Formats: sequence, C-alpha cells, structure tokens
Amino acid sequence: MKVLKFGGTSVGSAQRIKDVAKLITGSRNIVVLSAMSGTTNSLVEISDYLYKKNPDGANEIINNLAQKYYGHIDELYASEEYKQKAKELVNTHFDKIRSFTKDLFTLFEEKVVLAQGELMSTGMMNLYLHEQGINSVLIPALDYMRTDKNAEPDPVYIREKLTKLLEENNDAEIFITQGYICRNAYGEIDNLQRGGSDYSASLIGAAVKAEEIQIWTDIDGMHNNDPRVVEHTSPVRHLHFEEAAELAYFGAKILHPTCILPAKINNIPVRLLNTMQPDAPGTLISNETEKGKIKAVAAKDNITSIKIKSGRMLLATGFLRKVFEIFENYQTPIDMVTTSEVGVSVTIDNCKHLEEIVNDLKKYGTVSVDSDMVIVCVVGDLEWDNVGFEARIVHALKDVPVRMISYGGSNYNVSLLVKADDKKRALQALSEHLFNEK
Ligand code: ADP
Ligand code: ASP
Ligand code: MG
Repeated sequence: MKVLKFGGTSVGSAQRIKDVAKLITGSRNIVVLSAMSGTTNSLVEISDYLYKKNPDGANEIINNLAQKYYGHIDELYASEEYKQKAKELVNTHFDKIRSFTKDLFTLFEEKVVLAQGELMSTGMMNLYLHEQGINSVLIPALDYMRTDKNAEPDPVYIREKLTKLLEENNDAEIFITQGYICRNAYGEIDNLQRGGSDYSASLIGAAVKAEEIQIWTDIDGMHNNDPRVVEHTSPVRHLHFEEAAELAYFGAKILHPTCILPAKINNIPVRLLNTMQPDAPGTLISNETEKGKIKAVAAKDNITSIKIKSGRMLLATGFLRKVFEIFENYQTPIDMVTTSEVGVSVTIDNCKHLEEIVNDLKKYGTVSVDSDMVIVCVVGDLEWDNVGFEARIVHALKDVPVRMISYGGSNYNVSLLVKADDKKRALQALSEHLFNEK
C-alpha cells in the first residue's frame, strides 16, 4: 500500500481535482489531500476578523469563498444529483464557519475554522469519485490523527485507530483522508501547523508501514536551489533522508520539515512528484547516499544572530551552559552555533523574547545583535574526509560578506549566515559554482 499526498495547488480547481482522480484510481492506496489552494489562507483571514470582533469583515470573506466553491462544484460534477450533494456538503462547512461569527472567538474556535478546508476538499473528491463509479471511502482524520500532551503525534494511537478504520472498510477501492487536521490530547480539533499535510502523509505511511510515501505538488521534485529566488535550478533525482531533512528544515518549502522523520525511522522511501507532469521522475528520498556529491542549497529567512563576547570565557568551564540556559529559559531554539576562545555566536528564528534574552546574556559578556539575516545551507554527502567541498563553497561566496560558518554538526550540511539583502546573490553564486559550472 502507498500513501499519496496532494498539496493545495494539486487540488486547486475542478480540473485539477479531475486530473488527480485519474492519477489515484486503479490501485488501493491512501490518498491524503490538502485544502484547495488559497482556502487555508482565507480561513486564517476569517479567523483574524473574528478575533478582532468584526463579523462583517469575516462574512465578506466567507461569502466570497463560498461563491468560489459553488463555481468549482458546477464545473466538477456532471449530474444535478452530485452538484446538489456537493453543495449540501460545502454548505454544512460554511454554516459551521458562520456559526462562529456570533459567538466568542478563541484559539479553540480558530482550529475548527482552519479544519474546514481539508474537510471540504476531501468530501468533494470523494463525491467526484463516487460519481465516476469508484468505491472510494472517506477516512476522517479526526477519527485517528492525534497528538499527545506535548503536542507531538501519538504513533501508537494513530496506528491502532487507522488500522481499524481500514479494516472496517475492506471493500474500498481507494481511501481518501485529510492532511493537516488532527485532534489534540483532549480530543479537541487541532492541526499539524501550516504546510502540515506532508507530515500527515508520513505519519500515515509510518502507521500502515506503507511501501512508499508520495508527495505530489506543483514542481518536478526537490530542486538544487530555491526556484522562487534563483534561475536555472534543476531537480535532484535522489536524496538521503538526512539531506532532505536538512533542506526542508532550512527553507526548501516543497517539504514540511517534520515530514522526513517518520519515514526515516520506518525506512519508507519518499517520492516527490509533479501533478502537472506526472511522468517526470521527481525526487526519491531514501537511505542511500551518493558519495561525495553536493546536492542542493536552501535558505532560511528571518534569522537573528546574537554574539556574546567575554574576556572571562578563556578557560572558563560552564560558560556555554550558562548561555544556552538563557535561551532554554525563554523556550527559544538555537539554529546555528559558532564558538571561539573569546566568545560565541548563535542564531535564532523566534525573536519573541529577544529583549529579555539579551538582557540576561549581558551578565556574561558584551552582547551584539544582527537582525535581518538568512541561513544559507549547502547540503550533500559532506563527510569530513571528502576533501574540497568547503573550498568550493567558500570560493563561490568570495564576494558575499559571511557573518558565521558552521560545519561538523552533521555530515550533510554546511551552514553560512549572510545578510537578507545578500540572499539572492549568495544563492545565485552557489548555484553557478556548485551546479552550473561549464
Ligand atoms: P503544496 O501546496 O503542494 O504543499 P508547496 O507550495 O508547499 O506545495 O511546495 C511547493 C513549492 O515549493 C514549489 O512550488 C516551489 O516554489 C517551492 N520550493 C522552494 N524550494 C524548493 C526546492 N528546493 N525545490 C522545489 N521546490 C521548492
Ligand atoms: N492546508 C494547510 C495549509 O495551507 C496544510 C497544507 O496544505 O499542508 O497550510
Ligand atoms: Mg506544502
């Protein structure tokens, strides 16, 4: 059994839903769908108006979104009977959203609003397949996808519940389920964070021990650099789990950062494929490495670096512990670390407690902060005894000011910190020197 996940653009119009239907029929797999593209953003906007106690603002977006869905329904279904069924389906979801325009609005209600996008896209796909005479079965994510008290997915619960639901529907030709949405430890509706449908797919893949997890999107696999920023990028055919995890964590939007771990633990290959070009080979992510190869570059935005310089650090034990403890106290994760005999630099991407952190750090040294920075991450088989890769990276960036360089934490990445203003030219230069050299 395989798990096939289709992102928002892949189900973004009636025609796309029809194209996906063609791709998924014929084998008994689990299909995970995101909301139609733009829907979750609209639901966030609706919630924003409701938080601000502006029901008119919310209603305007709700009505526009509903009109869009009526248009999709008209185009998607052939018969009046199914158009009517689909209209009733989406109306139930819009009625749910509208019910919150009259009441108190909290995080709890927001989570319910955000869940409606995936509930609609899967319901519509299921009805479309039925109209085509296919015995598809909708497996509600809210009946099996669950997080624990630490807001981490609960793999035992997920496996037990999902296996049972699949067994109960033994005659199904295909299973359809929602990405992104789940319940929390208290049974309330919750989600796996924006972009989290990839995570749903890999949790489901791990639960059913799938033979493969396929992430279908709008591009032919992981490219060797960010195609939104750099010209002439090309798809990488093969990545190791660790390489894919580093790229996802450091900004390659094609994959949600959390999605690799469940697949890696269970050694399930992940294939990235293009819905608009289904025959393209895409990218295969597995346990295999290509010796000595630099694979791709990614960038993580909105980074702040903090330097703590201390004359007293020389030979002092416990200095780093004290510094890290301050970040821990404010629940602020550190991304990069570089040290010298007189100081330490770290980067963070969550500046909520920056002021307090800087204040506390001043007890131990002189503190300076650089904001609007970007981590550029070069990924590949970068074992330390493979000579030459550091030189190639540094040479590519010879005209770009580099604030920090970090290597040695993993065999798969070199990270460099540059100014946000230099991001484009840094990425472009790395592409030219590492991948496109003639
Ligand atoms: P989906 O809605 O299917 O989940 P996303 O928008 O989340 O799709 O991810 C696909 C997008 O990721 C692509 O359209 C592309 O612009 C962006 N992207 C960023 N970095 C990369 C990369 N290195 N390789 C491929 N795509 C990337
Ligand atoms: N629909 C959700 C979002 O837009 C989840 C996803 O698409 O992965 O973030
Ligand atoms: Mg995505």
